[in-house]
Amino acid sequence: MVLRVGLTGGIGSGKSEVSRRLAAQGAVVIDADQIAREVVEPGTAGLADIVREFGPEVLLPDGSLNRPRLGEIVFADPELRGKLNGIVHPLVRARSQELEDAAEPGAIVVQDVPLLTENNLAGLFDLVVVVDVPPRIQLDRLAKHRDMSRDQAKARMAAQASRADRLAIAGIVIDNSASLAELDRTGRSATCGPSCGAASSSARAPARAPSAVLAGGRKSLLTARPGAAGWVACRRRRPDPWSSS
Ligand code: ATP
Repeated sequence: MVLRVGLTGGIGSGKSEVSRRLAAQGAVVIDADQIAREVVEPGTAGLADIVREFGPEVLLPDGSLNRPRLGEIVFADPELRGKLNGIVHPLVRARSQELEDAAEPGAIVVQDVPLLTENNLAGLFDLVVVVDVPPRIQLDRLAKHRDMSRDQAKARMAAQASRADRLAIAGIVIDNSASLAELDRTGRSATCGPSCGAASSSARAPARAPSAVLAGGRKSLLTARPGAAGWVACRRRRPDPWSSS
């Protein structure tokens, strides 16, 4: 049995940064975006299906997928977008399942699912972890790191679920409003009280707790127990950093 964790957060909130830290702590991270690229690499059945549906014009001279071209085609036509999703999504699901099945018993399996809230997918996971930043910081980071204008960033953020909606489904919230060094410290230095290391009492919690447990009530901190193999979550013992913004 594994602990299935859905990791989500707004665009640019820091999901990849958190994923990397979870992976470094021993979690099995399943990255749907990366898998979506793998299943259409040259020589795959996925790419063959795409070419059958959209024609060889979606290939580059080296035989790989011309993503911008395919993007243009499906952007303009919802029906074609549905066809593309119909090819890619089942392959991504199958590969994700394969990776999960290969995980050791007791592993924490983390799936980075950007639109978990929007697509109402919380029920697929034992635990939902939300990476949270105030919109102001999200905007700053998108403008700085993503080559987006502030207006573009605002539009992308507005198209996603609200911060409140995401927080409403969170089992654990990771506050990523400070520096990356602080995010590291959150993982490394916090100590755990007696409630840590115990599986959540929620009905969806696994009967046999994985060795490194992500547990705790809503608004818990994800934090590392010194000496533990993985990250665990403690009930929050600090003032609520979300309440002021
Ligand atoms: P997307 O929604 O596009 O998948 P994401 O949620 O995975 O994004 P990241 O890629 O992890 O977000 O972070 C977005 C950018 O902000 C990256 O350049 C990352 O290094 C930077 N970043 C993330 N967290 C912090 C932080 N605490 N301090 C400074 N920069 C950060």
